Amino acid sequence: KSKDAGRNGLSFFDPNMEHTLKERALLEHDLRIGIEEKQFILYYQAQVVNHGHIAGAEALVRWEHPKRGIISPMEFIPVAEEIGLIIPLGEWIMKTACAQLAAWSHIPEMADITIAVNVSARQFSQNDFVEQVLSILHENGANPKKLKLELTESLFLQDVEEVIEKMVALKNEGVSFSLDDFGTGYSSLSYLKRLPLDQLKIDKSFVRDLLIDPNDAIICKSTIALAESMGLSVIAEGVETQEQHHALSEIGCFSYQGYWFSRPVPLSEFEALHKTT
Ligand code: C2E
Ligand code: MG
Ligand code: MG
Ligand code: MG
Repeated sequence: KSKDAGRNGLSFFDPNMEHTLKERALLEHDLRIGIEEKQFILYYQAQVVNHGHIAGAEALVRWEHPKRGIISPMEFIPVAEEIGLIIPLGEWIMKTACAQLAAWSHIPEMADITIAVNVSARQFSQNDFVEQVLSILHENGANPKKLKLELTESLFLQDVEEVIEKMVALKNEGVSFSLDDFGTGYSSLSYLKRLPLDQLKIDKSFVRDLLIDPNDAIICKSTIALAESMGLSVIAEGVETQEQHHALSEIGCFSYQGYWFSRPVPLSEFEALHKTT
């Protein structure tokens, strides 16, 4: 009888399921090797103010898989977070971004550019996160004032006092903070009020239908008003059309990111783009 149950249990693993598990195991395996062999690259997406002036870039990681080609972070970041590989990967990302800041500081036209680095909650929760970031900045000779860290609302699940303490320690050195994907996660206005943020980032899901769905327009407007009342700046992500850009500028947004201005591009392309704008 128990044998039957076992058989029944086995029948749960239909071929599709097995395939998924195999794929997942392979992805984890490849990810470990990829991190050891540094198969990653940072793309840069312009953060634009006013009439197209590039004030900064968001660093967005890509995986140059030897067999599969370029893999999107949406596929591997959640896995890296789950199995802890986001720690070494995140460290590599931070080092690469800070080295880039230092390199740009020697090029007069590029010296003002800021870099926004995405930090996952798991990374931020490391005990030595603050020391790690500060030593990376120091070792590379990068200006902390040019480094912006993008956090998400999943951070609200951690001990808020600890989060504040870490943010304050980094802010004291000049690092700034943006709250990514604002409005899509564990928004709590009481937490929001307490966090020493510098910027709210309007999620692209609200920008997408801004001109079609009145609710999205209201959300964008309210976010801008909220940020203003808390003394924070706002950036809208996912701006794909001129119409969206105009609509956002009319409701008081000054910073933008999106395909309308530029896709995320490799370093050399970003530098070329910056020269022409
Ligand atoms: P995110 O931080 O919210 O980044 C914005 C995403 O929107 C990027 O996707 C970007 O390519 C995309 N995007 C930018 N403009 C537009 C637009 O106009 N339209 C549309 N439809 N999309 C646009 P990407 O590069 O695939 O990254 C996805 C997510 O992966 C990021 O979302 C972030 O959560 C995560 N990620 C990327 N790089 C890193 C990293 O270095 N560290 C960590 N921890 N996470 C990262
Ligand atoms: Mg981001
Ligand atoms: Mg975002
Ligand atoms: Mg997003």
